[in-house]
Amino acid sequence: ATPTALMVGTGRGAQLGILIKGPEVLESTRRVDTVVLDKTGTVTTGRMTLQEVYAAEGVDEKELLRLAGALEHASEHPVARAIAAGAEDRVGPLPAVEHFENVPGRGVRGRVAGREVVAGRLFEEVPADVARARQEAEAAGRTAVVVGWDGAARGVVAVADAVKETSADAVRQLRALGLRPVLLTGDNRAVAESVARAVGIDAADVIAEVLPQDKVAAVERLRAEGRTVAMVGDGVNDAAALATADLGLAMGTGTDAAIEAGDLTLVRGDLRVAADAIRLSRRTLGTIK
Ligand code: ADP
Ligand code: MG
Repeated sequence: ATPTALMVGTGRGAQLGILIKGPEVLESTRRVDTVVLDKTGTVTTGRMTLQEVYAAEGVDEKELLRLAGALEHASEHPVARAIAAGAEDRVGPLPAVEHFENVPGRGVRGRVAGREVVAGRLFEEVPADVARARQEAEAAGRTAVVVGWDGAARGVVAVADAVKETSADAVRQLRALGLRPVLLTGDNRAVAESVARAVGIDAADVIAEVLPQDKVAAVERLRAEGRTVAMVGDGVNDAAALATADLGLAMGTGTDAAIEAGDLTLVRGDLRVAADAIRLSRRTLGTIK
């Protein structure tokens, strides 16, 4: 394509809500055959809300919520925000947390009201009743967080996210362009598959329970199979994978780290614009009329 055509393409992108880092980006956009979609904040709104609370026998439900809420108050993860806000609503002001530690893709720990509190996928052993509560919540499509203190898992708090209204249409458009959609998430498989079903992604194309550092390896594996991979993401956790993919698309509603790592930014956070970007590049570079 001529420099003029590329400039026109870039300008047209801006009108569509696509910010393009450089004209050469259009060339990688055109060649893409696989689109890896981050789940939380990309396919879903990422605005989670607290749902069920399960306290093991002998554990006070309000106490569980107070400790979990206080701990999660120190984290910026969407799951954590939902737990902290929901806890504050239900039990009032939350105590302070000390020695807070974030374990990326797994959970958090810290000292609250004299107890060593832990929340997330951090327990090696979980009592049968707590495991059952977690499983029921996950079967219902929730993200379940196991909460415990002083060495024992003592309950579960479940949060729900919602699929964006535009996501199913976006997946349909991406397929119509001949691309294969893949869902990639650190969340558990049951939740990931329920989101995949809602938007029309095959269960075989769901990669779940992936630690943040392993998202890169997942993208590399697809590339090693000979695919040309676009990755769409919004989180700090997605930045390295966005940089590794042949084409990184950042949600403009996401974190600065993701936006810096991406080649393209979808300004409005609407996944359908990913399909617009592919169409734009094909048209600009003359593969379709
Ligand atoms: P995603 O890939 O969907 O954006 P993450 O990699 O950020 O998800 O997180 C993966 C999982 O780790 C979450 O679904 C949750 O189970 C757990 N997790 C992460 N952060 C926290 C936290 N602050 N509290 C509890 N659980 C957490
Ligand atoms: Mg995300």
